Amino acid sequence: MRFDILTIFPNIFDSYLKESIIKRAIENKLIEIHVHDIRDYTKNKHKRVDDVPFGGGAGMVMTPQPLDDAIQHVKKLNKGPVIFLTPQGQTFSQTKAEKLAAKSEDMILLCGRYEGIDQRIRDLHVDLEISIGNYVLTGGELPAMVLTDAISRLIPGVLGKEESHQEDSFSKALNRKKEYPHYTRPATFKGMDVPEVLLSGHHKKIETWRKNKLK
Ligand code: SAM
Repeated sequence: MRFDILTIFPNIFDSYLKESIIKRAIENKLIEIHVHDIRDYTKNKHKRVDDVPFGGGAGMVMTPQPLDDAIQHVKKLNKGPVIFLTPQGQTFSQTKAEKLAAKSEDMILLCGRYEGIDQRIRDLHVDLEISIGNYVLTGGELPAMVLTDAISRLIPGVLGKEESHQEDSFSKALNRKKEYPHYTRPATFKGMDVPEVLLSGHHKKIETWRKNKLK
């Protein structure tokens, strides 16, 4: 599965997506992540990618030309949908991540900055708009990483044997509920004991206890 991410801050992606599970998934060729700098496509001699909004008002708007050129270029490499990260989009969820992972469809993730992007780019190129929650961030880079991470870990083989997503919070197996509490060694920590049933080795009782602890 291939993710192409369009941003004016490509360095933001240097750390997070190059560590741990995502790094291993890239090395094992289960996913590909390509980050493109929108600024590389601007024909403006000062390399500007923003301008004042028509109609006035505070803030700047990302200009259409570099976005259009960048998207057209990336569409030749990636045939998946163009997803614009925006607070105005449909709210992302585990169910949406599962659907996108099941399709195993490549995708192009477009990160906005400032007040957002020129509406004509949305009309021309955007297939889907996704929000990661009802709050406003400075840019679409964190949302793009959230999608990439949440979808990638559902791709078969990405999580090792030790890790599993089958019984995570919001999974089908847990009836879309939030997970039960976890405990590990030692059995007593700072005077607090692990619930006895978890030490009993009685699988049926453990299963019932966990079911009752779902929220
Ligand atoms: N003026 C926009 C609004 O009120 O909806 C907010 C723009 S925000 C400062 C800049 C960019 O950050 C957005 O274009 C979008 O790409 C990204 N962004 C901010 N919050 C987001 C969220 N909750 N979900 C997805 N993207 C978000």
